[in-house]
Amino acid sequence: MTDYDVVVVGAGPAGSTAARTLAQGGARVCLVDKARFPRPKPCGGALSPRTLRHLPSGFEKLVRAHVRRAVFTFRSGKPFEVVSATPMGYMVCRDEFDAWLKARAEEAGVLVREGMSVRTVEDTGARITVRAGGEVFSASTVIGADGANSLVAARLLPARPPARYMALEAEVPQDGHPLDETVLVDVGAYPGGYAWAFPKGDRVNVGVMVQYPGRRGLRAAFAAFVAQQPALPAVAARSQRVAPVAAPGSKPVPCCRPAVLLVGDAAHLADPFLGEGIYYAVRSGRLAASAVLQGAGGTETAVRYANSIEAQVWPDLIAASRVASLFHRMPRWWHHLLSLMPGSLSEVVGVLAGDQTYAGLLRRIVERVDAQAGRWVRRRLGGQGKGGPEVDGA
Ligand SMILES: Cc1cc2nc3c(=O)[nH]c(=O)nc-3n(C[C@H](O)[C@H](O)[C@H](O)COP(=O)(O)OP(=O)(O)OC[C@H]3O[C@@H](n4cnc5c(N)ncnc54)[C@H](O)[C@@H]3O)c2cc1C
Repeated sequence: MTDYDVVVVGAGPAGSTAARTLAQGGARVCLVDKARFPRPKPCGGALSPRTLRHLPSGFEKLVRAHVRRAVFTFRSGKPFEVVSATPMGYMVCRDEFDAWLKARAEEAGVLVREGMSVRTVEDTGARITVRAGGEVFSASTVIGADGANSLVAARLLPARPPARYMALEAEVPQDGHPLDETVLVDVGAYPGGYAWAFPKGDRVNVGVMVQYPGRRGLRAAFAAFVAQQPALPAVAARSQRVAPVAAPGSKPVPCCRPAVLLVGDAAHLADPFLGEGIYYAVRSGRLAASAVLQGAGGTETAVRYANSIEAQVWPDLIAASRVASLFHRMPRWWHHLLSLMPGSLSEVVGVLAGDQTYAGLLRRIVERVDAQAGRWVRRRLGGQGKGGPEVDGA
């Protein structure tokens, strides 16, 4: 048995970030992953601008495309576009990005064990014991960073709701770079979700996300989206991968107990509106590491972590969940509304840039709807006009 301060299970963005930050703070850390890196990960690979400030320096060389233009469609028709002077997103390939982040953890002094699937995690009271590949690791804290189907969560924080979305995606070669700096986003045919095409230089990532359980229609929705986008290559069935998007419902999901902290997808920390999870994985990885480094261990560390997630992450995810519910109740109406005032989408870009929050965005949507409704009622009371609420500029 080998002893550590912390064993981190899973070397995705959440686990590698937590492990690196801990090692930089002087902790003895072991990072275990069932895969050997570079490994594939079903993901669009879009990094929001706000993610960048939480990454180690040098990530720029991994960016395959800067997104400055987004084309929005409703059932592949009625297009309108939004153009931004500064990048709205930075596109990476997850095999490359995750291998690079894991290497930064190794560089910081983390012992990395790849190709070792964790089979059991036990809380013995005094220590946490992790068994993987015939080896036994013991630590005072385990960080569960093992993704949406987390074994650490299932064993030590069970009775969790399922992930909110299922997605199907493919990352395939693309000749001629027809998308360049443009992302395509289609709504209306994907209950609770959307379809996307993200440029990656000589590759393109195409996907469809729907509310869970909705897996049955996924392949048909994906095929219809690809067939209707002239810029996209044909995507063979063998390239397509299905995976959960670990966004929460409308309520927070418990993320810790004494000696056990969950981060990233294992803690259901993905955006319920867009499905963005890398930002929250990296954020929660850092928050977990800082709770361990500052806490006295056990309950105190768990409370510290729970408080920081509650204060710094959940308000935004809950607001994003409400934005998603509002949007998906009437996607046709919202698409039409936004096509009349595409400038208002700069507010969502502001959230991705970290200049605004979903909570602020939700407040402004409610204020505007209130103002419109008030105007409509006043008109009705004054006997003018016969139409319903009208739309004006953002
Ligand atoms: C189709 C799709 C598209 C997405 N697109 C985007 C996007 O464009 N932008 C964005 O920000 N987010 C996106 N997301 C969400 C994003 O992929 C996740 O939120 C993010 O990967 C979470 O990181 P993580 O480190 O928590 O988990 P993961 O990246 O899933 O890493 C978990 C790691 O744990 C390891 N592991 C699992 N079980 C074990 C075990 N028993 N023993 C040892 N190791 C184990 C795995 O091998 C893996 O390396 C998308 C998700 C999906 C499914």
